Amino acid sequence: MAKITLDNLAHSYFPNPRSEDDFALKELNHVWTDGEAYALLGSSGCGKSTLLNIISGLLTPSQGRILFDDLDVTGASTADRNIAQVFQFPVVYDTMTVRDNLAFPLKNRGASAQYIASRVQQIGEMIGMEAELDKRARGLTADAKQKISLGRGMVREDVNALLFDEPLTVIDPHMKWELRTQLKSLHHEFGHTMIYVTHDQTEALTFADKVVVMYDGRVVQIGTPEELFEKPEHTFVGYFIGSPGMNVIPATVEGNTAVVHGATVKIGQAFGSLNGKVEIGVRPEFAKLTDGEGLPVKVRRVEDVGRHKIVRADLFGNDINIVASESEVISSDMNRVTFDPARVNVYVNDWLQEGEAA
Ligand code: ADP
Ligand code: MG
Repeated sequence: MAKITLDNLAHSYFPNPRSEDDFALKELNHVWTDGEAYALLGSSGCGKSTLLNIISGLLTPSQGRILFDDLDVTGASTADRNIAQVFQFPVVYDTMTVRDNLAFPLKNRGASAQYIASRVQQIGEMIGMEAELDKRARGLTADAKQKISLGRGMVREDVNALLFDEPLTVIDPHMKWELRTQLKSLHHEFGHTMIYVTHDQTEALTFADKVVVMYDGRVVQIGTPEELFEKPEHTFVGYFIGSPGMNVIPATVEGNTAVVHGATVKIGQAFGSLNGKVEIGVRPEFAKLTDGEGLPVKVRRVEDVGRHKIVRADLFGNDINIVASESEVISSDMNRVTFDPARVNVYVNDWLQEGEAA
């Protein structure tokens, strides 16, 4: 296992990139701590696979270095990096049995027959295919083949890191949960450095110790699920994490007061003069619908989602979402919203600002 350092890394698929827009991966410095489970989260096309393939050695970056512990592996092959990678779609040997597919990476590295037999049995059970070990891969469903790919990725205990690129895309929903749980327990058991790519926030938040959020070729925040929820560093993290996501409202800010369409909102921190596009961000969980003081809203509808209610409303012509408790009665004279001042974040040009204690 290894600590993985990305040093000044960037990648463009163009031979002569002219501007930042030409880079699928913008400049990045990051250390992946040895033994930690990470999720790499972002929407389609934001550069997740590009980054993963650079770490595994399938792709050579146009700029920067990759170190495994203190060894520069930027030019090393995937095999030399000693990494297991599982892709979105199955990669299996059709003519081989499930057992031989699983055994392949171990045979390749010269493991003993006895060890191979017991390890393959164990992995077969983990992926729920112990009854099918002697079947040929050809003729199995895509779902079963993907489980074999996952098993092959997990079979070696001596890899430097395990990389997963949206591996559960073709797996049925029930088995998804099951396999994710297996991956987590595998992580607890062996403590591999794991990087799990997904565009699904639930998958990311349940799998990982730390979530790396990417947006438009850039890592915009690395944090625990709590940090991403409480202090989104970028408005994209606010939108993308949470359901519904954070409310982002254009405002002006002076001291510890924000002004939204002439109405004032108290904030828990004080700010000096801010230049650029200024917005406040408030999670629906920290907004409250009332019949008293507050900003004027027009309730459009109330959705009951079980644990709580989501109030969809209009605030000066923009959408705003408010979470109300399950037991709360929403009456027609509730046409104001208030925010918990300590939970109001301030953004300039989409980036979180740090103020002073007010
Ligand atoms: P993700 O995995 O997050 O969906 P990718 O890393 O696959 O994103 O892609 C990031 C960007 O790089 C996208 O704009 C994509 O079109 C582009 N891209 C990916 N692979 C190639 C390639 N082989 N050649 C040129 N452009 C590519
Ligand atoms: Mg991808």
